[in-house]
Amino acid sequence: MSIPRDHPRYHSLMQREKLAHGYEQGIVVLEGLIAHGRGEAFDYLIGETTVEPARRAIRAAAATLLLASSPVISVNGNTAALCPEQLVQLARVARAKLEVNLFYRSSERARRIAEVLRRAGAEEVLGVEPEAEIPNLSSQRRLVSERGIYSADTVLLAIEDGDRTEALVEMGKKVIAIDLNPLSRTARRASITIVDEVTRALPLLIQELKKLRGQSRSRLEELASFDNSANLKAMLRHITRRLAELEP
Ligand code: ATP
Repeated sequence: MSIPRDHPRYHSLMQREKLAHGYEQGIVVLEGLIAHGRGEAFDYLIGETTVEPARRAIRAAAATLLLASSPVISVNGNTAALCPEQLVQLARVARAKLEVNLFYRSSERARRIAEVLRRAGAEEVLGVEPEAEIPNLSSQRRLVSERGIYSADTVLLAIEDGDRTEALVEMGKKVIAIDLNPLSRTARRASITIVDEVTRALPLLIQELKKLRGQSRSRLEELASFDNSANLKAMLRHITRRLAELEP
């Protein structure tokens, strides 16, 4: 990789490099690159920083994960290429399982993603040979692990399409989504949406989990109670304000 460190868009260019490399390795699909581009556009509008509503969502997400009895972190090609170590660390701190779940699924790609996570330190990765199905979902994302997403009470996902979020919520699960687009169906349907870039949000979530561990159940319940649509409105207001400020 030959991107100079002092390049003003160093971080963004590095992300692209990681995804392009993931594509060459058969982890990321071309459609994933397009999804990343949509995310980048929203990040530009947000200001490429974690704003206050996202911090509030991160706190509620951490409390929700600590209250969960069977949390699962859903991993796709983009997140595996961008931040495998962070995903593994999150799973450890949240005592959650890791499961591969893909829209453009092939056994080979699922196996490769599981391998990336194992190299990053994961002991167990579910979803390579899924044996259960999410009801009312026709995409390949319906294929899940019985011990993982199927029986989870809380699922954390990032860079996701709206259909599965909806189906998981319909199954009665709490869904924590990381999605830069506050207008997406995922953002609107999830129980808690963290409108932030996934590699910025995960370290903050890990930090918050460590901070909140040891808090009483009633305190965690207080922190976990969250009005997602009010928070999305606050995100949209932030973007609107920012655009007004930037007006030439
Ligand atoms: P929906 O079906 O929920 O309306 P969509 O059709 O936009 O969503 P995808 O095309 O799968 O679904 O897009 C994935 C989402 O992930 C997009 O909303 C995009 O903004 C977001 N996204 C992409 N890259 C990142 C990233 N690095 N961090 C956080 N979110 C991201």
